[in-house]
Amino acid sequence: MNSSSFTKTLLFWFSIILLGVMLWKLVSAKPGSRADEISYNEFMAKVDAGDVKDVTMYPSQNSYDVSGQHLRPAGRLFHVTLSKEMAPAVIEHLREKGVDVKIQEVHGTDWMILLLNGLPLVLLVGFCLFLIRQMQRSATLVNSSSTRTGIGYDLHRLEYGRPLIVGGIELPFDKGPVGHSDGDVLAHALCDALLGAAGLGDIGTHFPDTDPKWKGANSLLFLEHAKKLLADKNFAIEHIDAVVITEKPKLGPHFPKMREALAKALGVSSDKIHLKAKTNEGVDAIGRGEAIAAHVVATLVSR
Ligand SMILES: [Zn+2]
Repeated sequence: MNSSSFTKTLLFWFSIILLGVMLWKLVSAKPGSRADEISYNEFMAKVDAGDVKDVTMYPSQNSYDVSGQHLRPAGRLFHVTLSKEMAPAVIEHLREKGVDVKIQEVHGTDWMILLLNGLPLVLLVGFCLFLIRQMQRSATLVNSSSTRTGIGYDLHRLEYGRPLIVGGIELPFDKGPVGHSDGDVLAHALCDALLGAAGLGDIGTHFPDTDPKWKGANSLLFLEHAKKLLADKNFAIEHIDAVVITEKPKLGPHFPKMREALAKALGVSSDKIHLKAKTNEGVDAIGRGEAIAAHVVATLVSR
């Protein structure tokens, strides 16, 4: 669980508990358990009858709210409102009668009730707004970025006396690919995978083998050009996975250099490029050492 979902869970349960407290208070509040509203005359009669032991007075702008407990029946609360002018005389009278008078500036109990009733609602609303915002954010994220995948394949015949170039690296071998450019199967298949993922056609569209400009060209140039085309369409390379199939030579030991060369041409870090080697188990042209082939899957993200 990440810290964001932990906070959400914590907030959710905190709101639920406070909501529970609020509902419990509402349900458990019996009718009559609140203060009885009495008149000034009733209040004074009670004071004179010695039925009031102590009162708390809450001064407001024009009046005094007076709360206290009946002695008979014990525990019942009462409430009376006095005008500001009457208050000094009443306080004096109460003190004469031995009633303990407390004057409080703020209705502490009322604040507590307000807090207990209002806080869960505020938290719940806040939590819902937070959830809505999170959902909007993830929706924006989904809309603003998309992933595209492209596949590329290439095969070249191998002939004696030609340089074997795979992944931009020349390998020591007695045969090499026949092709208009340097015949780098991995670079060609990779170029097709990238162009395919971006919806930009294939390598033949951009570098026709009829154009003398590309005769014997270093295929890493094709990748550098593909990188520019991707950038123009706001695509970034997320991952490249490739398989090179050849009977000989062993490719694995050369992979670190190939990844480095390809990554440099594409302007990405080499950990985004994954290379694998296969033989064709002596079957078909590749198995007989007459050809080399490559399959590449490229994944792009739009920025
Ligand atoms: Zn090719």
